[in-house]
Amino acid sequence: MAAPVVAQAWKLLRDLALRSPLLAARSQVVQLTPRRWLNLHEYQSKKLMSDNGVKVQRFFVADTDNEALEAAKRLNAKEIVLKAQILAGGRGKGVFSSGLKGGVHLTRDPKVVGQLAKQMIGYNLATKQTPKEGVKVNKVMVAEALDISRETYLAILMDRSCNGPVLVGSPQGGVDIEEVAASNPELIFKEQIDIIEGIKDSQAQRMAENLGFFGPLKNQAADQIKKLYNLFLKIDATQVEVNPFGETPEGQVVCFDAKINFDDNAEFRQKDIFAMDDKSENEPIENEAAKYDLKYIGLDGNIACFVNGAGLAMATCDIIFLNGGKPANFLDLGGGVKESQVYQAFKLLTADPKVEAILVNIFGGIVNCAIIANGITRACRELELKVPLVVRLEDGINIMVVCSHPPSKPCPCLLVAQNLIPPSQRTFLLPPAKAQDNQS
Ligand code: GDP
Ligand code: MN
Repeated sequence: MAAPVVAQAWKLLRDLALRSPLLAARSQVVQLTPRRWLNLHEYQSKKLMSDNGVKVQRFFVADTDNEALEAAKRLNAKEIVLKAQILAGGRGKGVFSSGLKGGVHLTRDPKVVGQLAKQMIGYNLATKQTPKEGVKVNKVMVAEALDISRETYLAILMDRSCNGPVLVGSPQGGVDIEEVAASNPELIFKEQIDIIEGIKDSQAQRMAENLGFFGPLKNQAADQIKKLYNLFLKIDATQVEVNPFGETPEGQVVCFDAKINFDDNAEFRQKDIFAMDDKSENEPIENEAAKYDLKYIGLDGNIACFVNGAGLAMATCDIIFLNGGKPANFLDLGGGVKESQVYQAFKLLTADPKVEAILVNIFGGIVNCAIIANGITRACRELELKVPLVVRLEDGINIMVVCSHPPSKPCPCLLVAQNLIPPSQRTFLLPPAKAQDNQS
């Protein structure tokens, strides 16, 4: 498991990567693949919620259309809601690669549930929050539909500017909350919570009222809000979002949707929750990297970056951009690195066909440069690198720079090497494959 500091650095990197003006300015050329932190499916979040006294609809989960049909029959409900399970919101307005419109469907006929599920499972669902091609649906949730008389929005999140948890709510729910914040900012209400004291009754009541719950519904909503807050703390969430947090004509306050994000630093004490992680939506290469405790972010350029630390990763990307290059990816070694990880890292980097050169930029101290150097040597020997390699290892006293590409042949990383590396420190080596050719 990655050390907390490393995990934090990566969170920072992910945020920086999405916000870096330099990267944003070049968003046309660089498509960042944001790293995904633990984020559960709706059905998993709702199970946690119902186990903790939060009101959700009765539901089953299905992997096939037949199972969905059986689940619909078993629910024996007046109306059924069928919901595609992907780790992204906006499903209601999404479109499937099967042509089916809408990732959320209501019907009174269990047979229709089976027919709809057939057009969902195994197909990609594209929503405002997914990549263009969408995300493959492997499971659907079959739930008892309830009438909704009013949809509100409720979220609990860790807010840096408040140094702690904040309740955010709006009486205008069920829609994109960013749009409400832009068009009617007066309809967004916040309650800052003291994490030591916990949520006060008065805060829960005030939020319930701001959301438009009155009479007996006000107490019910406040009770749900408190339960959601207590769950948020108990499971080390960074965000619990319920949209819609709704009201039924029968006078029930119900969480119709659920999205929970978790603090990765809490993995050690939330083992059951982290075991639920569905990695099927990750890039396979991310999963492979995670096996060796490496962090990988895919980009769409042609220079692979091999770095240690979030700041250095960003700086390296910027240097590449400033010199007219484009990073193909970056792979963070983190601290406490072993030689075998370096080898695995090279295997991953070179497996990407886009990669035309590798830039290694390591700041020693956190890691031992000798370990990196040994790992690189082994990788060069055993993997028969076909692409040029520029290595910069600095440990505060020594800077070692090596470029495997002959200076006469321009390579994608040469410009970077030229600017990153003073000529006096530049050593050009023949690529390993060539060197072997020469020997034979
Ligand atoms: P999202 O589009 O991914 O956010 O998925 P939601 O779970 O929020 O569902 C989208 C919309 O479907 C909600 O805003 C509701 O309007 C509607 N919906 C979901 N569940 C039910 C239900 O049980 N009954 C009714 N009447 N509408 C529902
Ligand atoms: Mn929703």
